[in-house]
Amino acid sequence: MTYTQRIIEQVKAKDGGQPEFIQAVTEVLASIEPLIEAHPEYEKAGLLERIVEPERVIMFRVPWQDDNGGVHVNRGFRIQFNSAIGPYKGGLRLHPSVNLSILKFLGFEQVFKNALTTLPMGGGKGGSDFDPKGKSDAEVMRFCQSFMSELYRHIGLDTDVPAGDIGTGAREIGYLFGQYKRLRNEWGGVLTGKGLSYGGSLARTQATGYGLVYLVQEHLACKGDSFEGKTVCISGSGNVAIYAAEKAQQLGATVVTLSDSTGWIHAPQGVDIEAIKQVKEVERGRISDYAKRVEGVEYHDGRGVWAIPCDIALPCATQNELLIDDAKALVANGASIVAEGANMPTTLDATAYLQGNGIVFFPGKAANAGGVATSGLEMSQNSERLSWTFEEVDAKLAGIMKSIYHAADDAAREYGHEGDYVAGANIAGFKKVAESMMAQGIV
Ligand code: GLU
Repeated sequence: MTYTQRIIEQVKAKDGGQPEFIQAVTEVLASIEPLIEAHPEYEKAGLLERIVEPERVIMFRVPWQDDNGGVHVNRGFRIQFNSAIGPYKGGLRLHPSVNLSILKFLGFEQVFKNALTTLPMGGGKGGSDFDPKGKSDAEVMRFCQSFMSELYRHIGLDTDVPAGDIGTGAREIGYLFGQYKRLRNEWGGVLTGKGLSYGGSLARTQATGYGLVYLVQEHLACKGDSFEGKTVCISGSGNVAIYAAEKAQQLGATVVTLSDSTGWIHAPQGVDIEAIKQVKEVERGRISDYAKRVEGVEYHDGRGVWAIPCDIALPCATQNELLIDDAKALVANGASIVAEGANMPTTLDATAYLQGNGIVFFPGKAANAGGVATSGLEMSQNSERLSWTFEEVDAKLAGIMKSIYHAADDAAREYGHEGDYVAGANIAGFKKVAESMMAQGIV
């Protein structure tokens, strides 16, 4: 058994009840075998044993009261996974599915994703099983204040900088920031994704979706191709999906699907970006509300986005939403590229099927890194007490996505896996973290 196989088995034995974490570890370790073989010193230094163990896991009670005075208790988490290359950095997810396994998988992914951005950020993730859906603003505020009343003592500008994720948008970041500032009596850029009036960065809202499209655009450009005239299927209808759709359409593609946890739409003429922003960002509505408002759109309950023929598929909803049958449908319908806007939306067997059938596949840790990269740019702006123009931030984001594409492409080539961007992204991200950990001794 190789060193990497042994560590995968060890994680399975030790963290048996954490399927998403095991999936993420397996994906990374199985693809970096050639790098590990080239560096026997890693095994002597117990590098893999250390890298799969979070530096710190914080779990806490989050009590809050609803508008009728009823008392609720949620579970809060922060996984401080790896600080070798910078302060822990990563979002806070608020969703009923949140548990230790999901946040450990997300924290683990974040370590390598952040390394790929070229910026000095370690990896972390946090959140709660609280569901902001259907709650009043006052209830969300009380939850956020209670959550931060514990979290504030564990985070800080140079320690850990949380941000948004599923369920945590501008409203939640505002309440969390207000409570942090109050408890610490200090203004600092300790959260990213802040509002523009109090230290947020222009283009942060758009960054994950735009970045996803910039990375695919760079790949297409290297092949003498572009988004012009392409049909694109997107799942999800949050921040990532909306801005991926906007940028893809600006570049001449037609985006024909979007979805939420209840259903999905087929829009053969393309998505009306202003209408979807109005429904999701202003009214906090559902994708079915969009279908009621816009002509020529079919709405279906359940899931079905990946059965629609397309050239490029961008899963932007959540983990494990693109399954083996979806992969088969995409291949059968002639798709050529799948790029993950969400974190680990494609299952391991679906990824293998896509890659084995000639589809170019970009994993989330490369393709959706534009969000956290722009969070890094927000931190820089806060530190220098300046704010950059939209064009400046957007140009930096585009440059970072290009460099991520080439880092993954070069690493895949160097280690004999040309065109395999899972291996390329994992090797490039892992290498930087591994070198830093090796230099810092057994810690
Ligand atoms: N939640 C996003 C991600 O998965 C962004 C994290 C951040 O901006 O820190 O990368």
